[in-house]
Amino acid sequence: MRVVARINVAAIERNVTRLLGRVGPGTAICAVVKADGYGHGAVPAARAAVAGGATWLAVVTAAEATALRDGGIDARLLVLGPLRDDDLPEALDAGAEVVVWDAEGVERLERLGRPADVHVKLDSGMGRLGQRDADEALALCDRVAAAAHLRLSGAMTHFATADAPDDLYADQLARFTAWAADVRRRHPSAVLHAANSAALLRDPASHFDLVRPGIAIYGLDPMNHDAADHDLEPALEWHTRLAAVKPLLPGESVGYGRRFRAAEETTVGTASAGYADGVRRALTNTGTALVGGRRRPITGTVSMDSIGIDLGPGATDRAGDRVVLVGRDGDEHLSAEEVARTLGTINYEITCGIGPRVPRVHHRDGAPVPAAGPPVDRAARSGGTTAR
Ligand SMILES: *Cc1c(COP(=O)(O)O)cnc(C)c1O
Repeated sequence: MRVVARINVAAIERNVTRLLGRVGPGTAICAVVKADGYGHGAVPAARAAVAGGATWLAVVTAAEATALRDGGIDARLLVLGPLRDDDLPEALDAGAEVVVWDAEGVERLERLGRPADVHVKLDSGMGRLGQRDADEALALCDRVAAAAHLRLSGAMTHFATADAPDDLYADQLARFTAWAADVRRRHPSAVLHAANSAALLRDPASHFDLVRPGIAIYGLDPMNHDAADHDLEPALEWHTRLAAVKPLLPGESVGYGRRFRAAEETTVGTASAGYADGVRRALTNTGTALVGGRRRPITGTVSMDSIGIDLGPGATDRAGDRVVLVGRDGDEHLSAEEVARTLGTINYEITCGIGPRVPRVHHRDGAPVPAAGPPVDRAARSGGTTAR
């Protein structure tokens, strides 16, 4: 294969099990597999998360919910939304639970007249989706609970700064904790949930009934430092190959715009991955790749389909040799966190940015993964409430 992302589903499974070990017995895991499982493949990631002990899954769009059901995934499923009239029915068809934060959202559900499990979202300080006013959010809970076809399934919020010490985090947690106590008093069966990966790892007070880790299940550090800090294993490796190797004489250049010129004689390798595959163009003359177990600089302009790599004078690497863009090679490790730091971004953007042209090959500690099960027939329980 020209370029490939190899994903170890056993690592995802173990990461979820480790995360489950960090929460109390009363707390369940909702594994977040939006955006094609952060680039890891949503269906295999979901299956691995469930095998590791997750009892819920979350996605953002109705189409993502459908894709999980088509892939044979039958766990409780939350669509974080927002959903509009044109995609709300699809989410319910998939037997997913949905989120509302204003009267309009509840009215949309009431108009549909279909059974639905509903979570009410408080904006405790993120400033994006969610109901800002706690009293209004509580009234929405009452309204959902009282509606003929609707069930108040959960009450939630989302943190803006759980990944860094910050006053806002404490503030958000306090606001949610107070509101959640009111919700619990009036609606004891509603599932309370707030924590993303960072909050899960940093603060047990954020755990409530359910935690929603995304990045951590893939073995990536929500603090963008090092997954080993949290005893997590990265599931994804990203490889390509050298397509050509040639000597470069002083003054000769590599790639568009001649942005690399050899100061002395060296060897340049051309590797088969470019920005269309997710190798960001900003890695031009700043990125790193592993070749033959050594760290080598990305040299010259990252183009659509290839990159140059300075292999050093007298290099013995050959066309066909493996190039690691993220992962291990011998004793060397190039993490998604490191690539992200080079780019001034976060690891999330690195794995989500691996392009659709890159095949995802799933394995279980190196062994082939059995074929997917049949699609789940949602007709029987479409929009219906399910046991917790
Ligand atoms: C994406 C998302 C998460 C997961 O966040 P991570 O930082 O990846 O753990 C949790 N909750 C909501 C509402 C999200 O949108």
